[in-house]
Amino acid sequence: MIDPDSQIPMVDLKGQYLRIKPEIDNAIQSVIDSSAFINGLQVGEFATDLESYTGVRHVIPVANGTDALQIALMALGLQPGDEVIVPAFTYIASAEVVALLGLVPVMVDVDYDSFNVTAAHIQKAITPKTKAIIPVHLFGQSCPMEEILLLAEANDLFVIEDNAQSLGSVYSFSEGKEQQAGTMGHFGCTSFFPTKNLGCMGDGGALMTNDDDLAFRAKMIASHGQSKKYVHDVIGCNSRLDTIQAAILSVKLHHLNDYIEERQLVAKRYYEGLSDLNSILLPRKMPYTSHTFHQFTIKVTNGKRDELKKFLAAHGIPSMVYYPLPLQEQEAFTDIVREGEQLPNSELLCQQVLSLPIHTEMTEEVQNFIIEKIREYAEQGE
Ligand SMILES: *Cc1c(COP(=O)(O)O)cnc(C)c1O
Repeated sequence: MIDPDSQIPMVDLKGQYLRIKPEIDNAIQSVIDSSAFINGLQVGEFATDLESYTGVRHVIPVANGTDALQIALMALGLQPGDEVIVPAFTYIASAEVVALLGLVPVMVDVDYDSFNVTAAHIQKAITPKTKAIIPVHLFGQSCPMEEILLLAEANDLFVIEDNAQSLGSVYSFSEGKEQQAGTMGHFGCTSFFPTKNLGCMGDGGALMTNDDDLAFRAKMIASHGQSKKYVHDVIGCNSRLDTIQAAILSVKLHHLNDYIEERQLVAKRYYEGLSDLNSILLPRKMPYTSHTFHQFTIKVTNGKRDELKKFLAAHGIPSMVYYPLPLQEQEAFTDIVREGEQLPNSELLCQQVLSLPIHTEMTEEVQNFIIEKIREYAEQGE
């Protein structure tokens, strides 16, 4: 039985740690033993491990996913006033770094079914000032990259994939070639925030690229613009992945495919338990990408999303609204957004989305309880 007073977690990081405690503890202890807390051996080892996992030529570890995006924009040499296209339905970081560098974020709408941008959405916003696009692989699925890459090539645009939520997702090109999300653009940026697909025990992030020159520039920028010790070629920043975090990440990377399968199993049970409800749309799996289910995000189509959220909370079941406001409505962007833009899907999604608990430690018993309560609520209204 589910204890009615117990709070079900949205994610269970403690449980995930306890399953591999000896491995993690050893990795941390070995860093403490060497006391090379910054730029220790494990940082390079982890970069190599992630290069093999994703098949990308270069992984550049940095302090967090937001820094990775910022460093990518800096390494591409974008100039103030250049326009960068970003989806309106995403986490703030994707657009924030654009504005921070004096570039102009141009928000575009997303596809209602996949939550992601498509080439058609991007195309409408391209102007002579557009220099780059940031497709965000939201909630665990890749954007339709083949068409986005073709559009970018035709318009001479840089592509920076925001892969903070979809590390491990595999994209299939139409002629059969498969590639990991985050390895297809000029840069891919990811985050190791603890709740991401591959999470560390603090902050962490990385850039990926297949371009030797861009890798060199990104590395230099992340290290104070330094090409050799105390020789500074460009203005950079200070963004490093701690050695302890790198050591933890190498351990957890071995388990990433299991973590993804465990999330997919939870998703499967949600599909089985909830697919017949009229007022709820389940996430649509797109044919060109695997789904790592970073989130399991339903759409409540009867206008009662907030009521369902409250009902679940009253039964100790958490849920989250990712995201409550499209970027163009955020106060921070009011001076930046172009007049007269219509982004209807982003607006609608912000009213309908609800992300349900999904994580690697979910038991069938707890999930059955969540499904039962959602059904109880939805069936009242039918
Ligand atoms: C988490 C996230 C980021 C930022 O990552 P941090 O490591 O928290 O800086 C960027 N973009 C998206 C879509 C994210 O989900």
